[in-house]
This record gives sequence, structure tokens and C-alpha cells, in this order.
Amino acid sequence: MSEHIRLHIPGPVEVSPATYEAMAAPMIGHRSKDFVALYDSIQPRLQELMGTKQPVFLSTSSAWGVMEGTIRNLVVKKVLCCCSGAFSDKWVDVARRCGKEVDALRFDWGVPVDPAALDAKLATGEFDVVTFIHNETSTGVMNPLAEVAAVVNKYEDILLVTDTVSSFTVVPIEVDELGVDVLLTGSQKALALPPGLALFAVSDRAFARAAKINDRGYYFDFLEFKANHEKSMTPSTPCIATIRGLDHQLDVIFAEGIENRFARHERLNDTVHDWVRKNGFEFFAPEGFRSKSLTCVKNNRDIDVAKLGQIMRKDHSLAIDGGYGKIKGTTFRLSNMGDETDETIQNLLDALDDSLTKL
Ligand SMILES: *Cc1c(COP(=O)(O)O)cnc(C)c1O
Repeated sequence: MSEHIRLHIPGPVEVSPATYEAMAAPMIGHRSKDFVALYDSIQPRLQELMGTKQPVFLSTSSAWGVMEGTIRNLVVKKVLCCCSGAFSDKWVDVARRCGKEVDALRFDWGVPVDPAALDAKLATGEFDVVTFIHNETSTGVMNPLAEVAAVVNKYEDILLVTDTVSSFTVVPIEVDELGVDVLLTGSQKALALPPGLALFAVSDRAFARAAKINDRGYYFDFLEFKANHEKSMTPSTPCIATIRGLDHQLDVIFAEGIENRFARHERLNDTVHDWVRKNGFEFFAPEGFRSKSLTCVKNNRDIDVAKLGQIMRKDHSLAIDGGYGKIKGTTFRLSNMGDETDETIQNLLDALDDSLTKL
């Protein structure tokens, strides 16, 4: 096997040896008592982390499976997608491919979603679902979730779907208090697990909407998830090994303490931000809307980002991201999400310092 390249890309992120070890336990049947015990041990901890009394479902898919599922389960009239980056833009395309009526509320990449503009759009009465990405991983923008939720909640018949793939357990997110109808996240980013598992909570309003829709499909049918949840099971055979990894990561999260985890992300993110300023770089995201789990660095120095990535890989066995889609090369991204520590982030920044001298 070739040498391990440590991941500092914003997903998938580095997975700890202890997590892999937890995943390597002998297989169990997904309808067995052992699985029910595993599910029951995970469930209350996920509810606590999400701040919800609703069940938290485990979907054997990446986040996009559930993102598509929300469209199929919830949209009757028309969905409005808040678009300000690669992931939020793609949701429009996904909704269209599901045969739904869709409109986009567009902001330039790097510009946060504006709650007042959203309000004006929703006032037309055309929409019954809003899709929203809390932390736009492609641009490093953390959008104003509480303000957006307050706007959507003014409209009784509009459901709010929120993607927290790169912000769950990074900053506090209280689903019930915020009034988010579907909160979803994935395994390979903020939770530092291998890919292949998505987690989501659904409000009673959203279940009621789903019950009125006939063509929800099977694999992502919210009501199928709910019926199986009542038996502490999933609709189909889940990725049991990854769920064991999740069980382990929940142990790790609660041992650290959730407040300490938030503080660690903030501290490590600040360390990266200091490095950005010290080296004469700028941020792609505006002040006040910067992600705590990754940094999208603006390449205002016009360095060769691809070459920087190559040197980092070759000389330091570290992977960074050279910018997403249309901002490839004009930005680069550094992740501090998951299990990163002061030491691993310092190691990353030292390696960047060395690599910059070799450009
Ligand atoms: C990575 C990411 C996704 C897509 O996740 P997949 O696991 O590839 O389905 C969606 N939303 C955000 C914000 C992401 O960062």
C-alpha cells in the first residue's frame, strides 16, 4: 500500500485508528437484538446533539440520498432552493430531476443567504419547501440559520430543510427550538467517519406532509424510516460497520464534552485564520459569516495553488483542497473539522509555510 496522505480536505476527513477499530467488530444481523441495542444506544445521544425529541434516522447513503429524499417526501407545490455555492446550487438540479417545480434564490458564491430576500420570495405564496445549506463547504460561508429559520417559520405551510453536513457538532444547532423540519448531515465530514451514512431528523409537520404524497419512493421514504425506527431498526440493511463507528464517535464526543468540542473547533479555526492573515492571504467568506469547520482562503497572492497541493502531498504527505468548481485555483480550502487537534493543525500550517517557500 502507498504511504498514507493525511486528509485536510473538507471531506472526507481523516478517520482515527480508534474509529476503524470500533468498526472492525464482528458482523451482526440487522434484525438481531444486538442491532437493536446498538440503535438504542445511539439514538438518545443523537437526539441530544441535534436538540430534538424527534427520531434521528440512519440512512445508508451519502447526504445526497437524503437531500433528494426531502424533495420527494415534501414538495407538493414548489421548492425554493437558497443558492450560494456548489452544494446549494446542485439542489436545484436534483429537485428538477425529481420532476418537481423549483425556483432558486441566488446569491453570488461567497455571499451569505439574505433572510430579507428570502422573506420577499416566500411572500409570493408559491412555495411549500425551502432548502438551505447551513455551512456551504464549497465557499466556507456559514449562513445565518437562526434568521433563516425565523423567516420560514412565519409561513405556516412552508417546510425548512437544512443541510448541516459540515457544521453538525461544530457549532450548536437546536433543531426543535429553531423549528427546522428536516435536519440532515453526513458521516464523512464533521463527524469524521468514513462516507456512506447520513443522519436526519424529521418534524411532525414534515411527516404529515409526506403522508399526503404518494410517490415518495421506497429507499428514502420518511414514513418507512419512522415505522422501522419504532422497532429500533432501519428500512433496509444498513452500513452496520459505519454505525459502529458512529457509536464510537458519540463516545468520543460526549467524553470531550460538546461545549469543549465547539470551543476546540473555534480555536483551531482561529489558528488557521491567524495563519491566513500572517501570510497576506484573504478570506473568501465575509467577516461574521465564516465557517468554523474549514477555511476557504482567497488566493489574492496569485500563487500556483495546484503546485502548492502537489508539494504538500509529496513533501508532507498532507492533502489540502485546491478550490471547488468555478473557484478552483482562485481559492484553496483547509479543513479543521472532526478529530483535529492543536498539534495536527500546527503541523498543517508548518507544512504550508515550508511548501510556500518551494513554489
Ligand atoms: C459534502 C457535502 C454534501 C454532499 O455530501 P455527499 O456525502 O457527497 O452526498 C452536501 N452538503 C454539504 C454542505 C456538503 O459539504
